[in-house]
Amino acid sequence: MNILSDLVNKHNFYRESTLNLQASENVLSRPAREALGADLASRYSHIMDSGINGYGGCKYSEEILIETENLMKKLYGSKYAEVKTIGGHVAAEVAILSTMNKKENMLAIGENCGGYTGYFGNYIPSMFSINSYEIPYDSENQEIKYEELEKVTKQVNPSVILLGQSFFVKPYDMKRIREIGDECNARIIYDGSHVMGLIAGKQFQPDALKYSDILLGSTHKTFFGPQGGIALTNDEELWDRMSFNTVWKTMDNYHLNRIASLGVAAEEMLQFGEEYASQVCKNSKQLGKALNEYEIEVKYSPWYSYSHQVHLSPENESRFGNFLKISQKLEENGIITDREGRIGTAEITRMGYNDMDNMASLIKDALSGKNVKNNTIELRKSLKIKYCR
Ligand SMILES: *Cc1c(COP(=O)(O)O)cnc(C)c1O
Repeated sequence: MNILSDLVNKHNFYRESTLNLQASENVLSRPAREALGADLASRYSHIMDSGINGYGGCKYSEEILIETENLMKKLYGSKYAEVKTIGGHVAAEVAILSTMNKKENMLAIGENCGGYTGYFGNYIPSMFSINSYEIPYDSENQEIKYEELEKVTKQVNPSVILLGQSFFVKPYDMKRIREIGDECNARIIYDGSHVMGLIAGKQFQPDALKYSDILLGSTHKTFFGPQGGIALTNDEELWDRMSFNTVWKTMDNYHLNRIASLGVAAEEMLQFGEEYASQVCKNSKQLGKALNEYEIEVKYSPWYSYSHQVHLSPENESRFGNFLKISQKLEENGIITDREGRIGTAEITRMGYNDMDNMASLIKDALSGKNVKNNTIELRKSLKIKYCR
């Protein structure tokens, strides 16, 4: 009986012979992947309030946690880093628990404007008994309507203005938002889940933490890490509250193997982050332009994107089918994308691939009914992970 090991091998082989253009994913370097499979994966470490670890055998794992926190602080220039949260979503729960009381209001970008589903309705607001209202947003230009935000802020008196999107192509005017928030003493939380690697590389919203109280997000989308979450702050009181709201509140153990792997990724980011992030942003802009030239409609011409994502227009449906059909057709040709019309350049850039005209031409051929599977397999074989030691 080896069903599961066989399936894992099949999955590895499958994904190693395809090109991944999913905006929410990235690829781990070999050392980061090895850390995930280390002995740490089945160990505990928990320093109690008394200062004593409740578990033995932890002399290295304690150091791994401290080193990883220090690397993250250095990378984002923050005073404090909470690396224990096991996803961007949990980091957001911790941040909201640390800044809001029951029945209070928050503002976030609506789902139909690319905001995160968890911040509305039956998800986080209902779990924590808080209310969320939408930040006025101009989808066509991908911009917050700042004057309207100022009005809504006065009406709603939010405890938190929560920024960030899952469909995320343009940064915000953070100084303006801070001023609006300050008028009613709202905390500013920046959910950079998608763009944490681009922020670390200083190519997208480098002022995210400067003008916010908490910068949080996933460690595995544009960041080089394993799946997990992080929350950064310069505010000692918030840091204390976030620590209190993490272990034994939103989760218990924090997966030591994941922390070690995140530390490896942080070292890679410190060394290569700026070059990688700048290339990612260049590639998405170029991919948007090239796709449009091949008559695959991409939104937000002529700038297309300032991040790792480009967004297909629903106008493609009459020629190529809906986003699900497009994704299925591409996957038949060895190109993996999500089913929501996002195309991401983070992983292929990390694989050292920058020829976006060729990428657009492969996509165009696949969608036009040609079989380019062998071309993608050959291309994938020629690539190996860049920006790691
Ligand atoms: C992906 C995402 C999350 C959830 O992150 P996980 O790491 O999957 O828990 C939260 N917020 C935004 C904006 C996201 O895009």
